[in-house]
Amino acid sequence: MKFYFKKIIKNKHKTAEIIRNFERPETVPLVRDYLKFKLNMSFSTKYIFVTGGVTSSLGKGILAASLAKLLQARGYTVTIQKLDPYINVDPGTLNPYEHGECFVTDDGAETDLDLGHYERFLNVPTSQANNVTTGRIYQSVIEKERRGDYLGKTVQVIPHITDEIKNRIKLLGKTGNFQFVITEIGGTVGDIESLPYVEAVRQLKWELGKDAMVIHLTLIPYLSTTGELKTKPTQHSVKLLLEYGVQPDVLVCRTEHALNRDIRNKIALFCNVAPHAVIEARDASTIYEVPLLMEEEQLDVVVLNQLNLPVSENIDLAKWKDFLQKFKHPKHHIKIGLVGKYVELKDSYKSISEAFIHAGASNDCKVEIDWIHSESITDDNVIEKLAGLGGILVAPGFGQRGIEGKITAIKYARENNVPFFGICLGMQCAVIEFARNVLGFKDANSTEMNPGSTNPVIDLLEAQKKITKKGGTMRLGSYPCNVSENTKAWTIYKQKEINERHRHRYEFNNEYLQDFEKAGMIASGINPEGGLVEIVEIKDHPWFLGVQFHPEYKSTVANPHPLFVHFVKAAIEIKKLVH
Ligand code: GLN
Repeated sequence: MKFYFKKIIKNKHKTAEIIRNFERPETVPLVRDYLKFKLNMSFSTKYIFVTGGVTSSLGKGILAASLAKLLQARGYTVTIQKLDPYINVDPGTLNPYEHGECFVTDDGAETDLDLGHYERFLNVPTSQANNVTTGRIYQSVIEKERRGDYLGKTVQVIPHITDEIKNRIKLLGKTGNFQFVITEIGGTVGDIESLPYVEAVRQLKWELGKDAMVIHLTLIPYLSTTGELKTKPTQHSVKLLLEYGVQPDVLVCRTEHALNRDIRNKIALFCNVAPHAVIEARDASTIYEVPLLMEEEQLDVVVLNQLNLPVSENIDLAKWKDFLQKFKHPKHHIKIGLVGKYVELKDSYKSISEAFIHAGASNDCKVEIDWIHSESITDDNVIEKLAGLGGILVAPGFGQRGIEGKITAIKYARENNVPFFGICLGMQCAVIEFARNVLGFKDANSTEMNPGSTNPVIDLLEAQKKITKKGGTMRLGSYPCNVSENTKAWTIYKQKEINERHRHRYEFNNEYLQDFEKAGMIASGINPEGGLVEIVEIKDHPWFLGVQFHPEYKSTVANPHPLFVHFVKAAIEIKKLVH
């Protein structure tokens, strides 16, 4: 037995293959576990860096997530990290118009929205370590300097800032949880602010040797006047990388037209990469198609070969393909009104619109979002604005602007039995609306909007009252919630204990709870530690739910969020009844 192990463990590629066979039920579990243990022991973490050239917005995040998906489908454990070159410590203090939505992880990190894509693709939670900004790097280097950790040395970009960047990259590998760490370098090669990151990549590639590689995402523009694809911008961008000492191993080329053999050979020749490592990335109809396009181009195979890893026959993308099939060929169609104040920039509500895609597919339904600016809704035009919608979602947000339009939209949904879903500020507005129009507290408000309200039905959390600093000080991350039986929330979650992610300072004021419950708006989800109201619903309404947390952050392709699934389902059913 021992001899047998020794023989097969000598060749770890073969071991991976054997383990896959050992997944069969007849396998002796002990042997299988031993082999898995040995394989992990002999597997050094592989680091893949994704850089971008020519222009921003080419989709590095989606490329990183797609490659991760393919590696995961081949049985590897993968995580993705985003390095952002701006000086904010995290995007939590950024206006959504600046950078789109702020995504929140279980451990309460306020992060770039790309982390949302990573989770939606991989169905694996990310954490604080998955998003690092220049602000955070400098903050920790300066803290170390103040503590005297540098022992009198002059603190410099190289090596101190670059060392800090390298440590943050290797941190995820050191957890032992991942065989691959894919690190996306924000910005475009050539930007002054991303230079230390590119330098850190150069050093790591040198140090890690065969365990590291660089994928450069670039653009091949099409000149319609001459009908040609042009490779020059890509050549220049690779030259720039080479000036910094980084040779990319793979070039992924965004293009509107197919790259023929000649163009691939030309790019390969000018950029020192193998022709098969020039990957075509055609524009896709949905981001969820990109993993399949990358599979067709064999990006995963090129990566595995580059890193000297075995390429197995099996790649399990059946569920992914099933989801895409449903998404592309829906049986139903509904329109949901998304009422918010940042609707000009749809990225502000990225996780919500993606959660609708997941929930739509699981209901065989295309969910069309009608983006409605909350400031544009008034008592006079509300019918015209909202009539015909299958459901209304009132979005999260901060501050007074647009709040009255949200309240008007909620009144319409409540009185006309239109499915309503309120998230965070949307839930708070539903509480205010109910207090004003059902309980008769005419000046009911949140103390965020009117600190002098005589009926502060939404009030600052006790823990927030002494806080003055803005960054990272909200109630953030995952908190438990107990769902009450015999409620709509119970029929949706089908369990008592749930955990959802939060990002807010204000909360339902429990002094009013009895009044609300007597009048028909009940608290169906409560935080077990502090008694905070996390879910409200109206008993005699077909579907009216407000949640203090953000369910959209936890919706993934593999696990569409049940609240979104049931909301879409309610909208489909009510539409059937009306027609
Ligand atoms: N502004 C509200 C609060 O801080 C709601 C926040 C949100 O919608 N994320 O409580």
